[in-house]
Amino acid sequence: MDDLSTQQLESKNNKLGIALVGLGQYAEEQLAPALKQIQYCELKGIVTGSPEKIPHWQTQYGIPDRNVYSYQNFEEIASNKEIDIVYIVLPNSQHANYTVRAANAGKHVICEKPMAISVHECKEMIEACNRNKVKLGIGYRLHFDPYHQYTMQLGQGKLGNLRKVKGNHSMLLDDPSAWRLQKKFAGGGPLMDVGIYVVQAACYTVGKAPIAVKEAQFGKVSRPDIYDTVEESISGTLAFPDGILAHGTCSYAEASDWLKGKANGGSWELEPAYAYNGIEGSTSEGPMDFQEVNQQTLQMDEFAQSLLEGKETKVPGEMGCRDLAILMAIYQAAETGEPVPLESDKL
Ligand code: NAD
Repeated sequence: MDDLSTQQLESKNNKLGIALVGLGQYAEEQLAPALKQIQYCELKGIVTGSPEKIPHWQTQYGIPDRNVYSYQNFEEIASNKEIDIVYIVLPNSQHANYTVRAANAGKHVICEKPMAISVHECKEMIEACNRNKVKLGIGYRLHFDPYHQYTMQLGQGKLGNLRKVKGNHSMLLDDPSAWRLQKKFAGGGPLMDVGIYVVQAACYTVGKAPIAVKEAQFGKVSRPDIYDTVEESISGTLAFPDGILAHGTCSYAEASDWLKGKANGGSWELEPAYAYNGIEGSTSEGPMDFQEVNQQTLQMDEFAQSLLEGKETKVPGEMGCRDLAILMAIYQAAETGEPVPLESDKL
């Protein structure tokens, strides 16, 4: 699919059409409401394996029968001109499959984090999007939050040379039936789900990719009955160029949500840091005070705009692939007890 022309956009009432694939909690509670207040795209279609959810979504969002798909007839979306973007909001193990299928159907793709469950899958997804000339973005909503945008500035010179980043993103999860606790669906435990935010934050605070995982270790397992395929907690340290270190922790056995940074000229802190709203922050110079935004609205609008204007998204598939490589290296360091070098020029 080529970049969308002004003429095409006008015929679409100035908005691109999005179809959500997977109507679970994040799609229902965050993405669909965010699409109600968006400028450059609108919710036009749904793809679901749960027929009982369809009437509610059709009524709530005015979705016609012709734009409702199942996982079986998903490929038919190829001929639907009302849908420009397919947003994959399925369990992690299905991100690669549906991204490749959406790309082969000629649709641009936004894929939720983590991009996939292996670097190999990420590369296949990028290759499929390139081959079909469609764009791929990752659901990294915090790049569009003003507190995190300010953190990028603080980390990249506003308070002098950056020295350290530290973060913890943990949430309580003890439902044995949750797909997040099964490696075959989630690819890993809290590192894949919530720790990825700390890794992301470290990278965008520094403004560079890490050069190594210096050390990592799995935490104590308090519930071996449910943590039998994924870790319950894990922590580790990333080494960045110029001697900058970033230490992160994540767990499913506690709730914790903060990010801190220290530079030669001062320090800062966000808590809660990774939430959809209500982020609070301060620097050694005083409180941060930014207007609350809808992160998902801004994230999806930026992707739509990138298509309309033929620009790169700030959160491309390559970034998701880089992060998977870092996550896998953290697991390797925890398993072997050895540092793991990362080829940062390739990340
Ligand atoms: P969820 O369990 O609430 O929803 C998953 C959906 O996938 C459900 O509609 C379910 O019916 C469907 N599904 C299809 N095949 C399935 C299978 N084999 N097993 C289980 N469900 C299946 O999950 P969620 O919290 O909405 O998460 C979905 C994705 O979104 C995940 O990749 C997650 O990491 C991501 N997510 C991102 C954010 C964010 O802030 N960016 C927040 C939450 C979730």
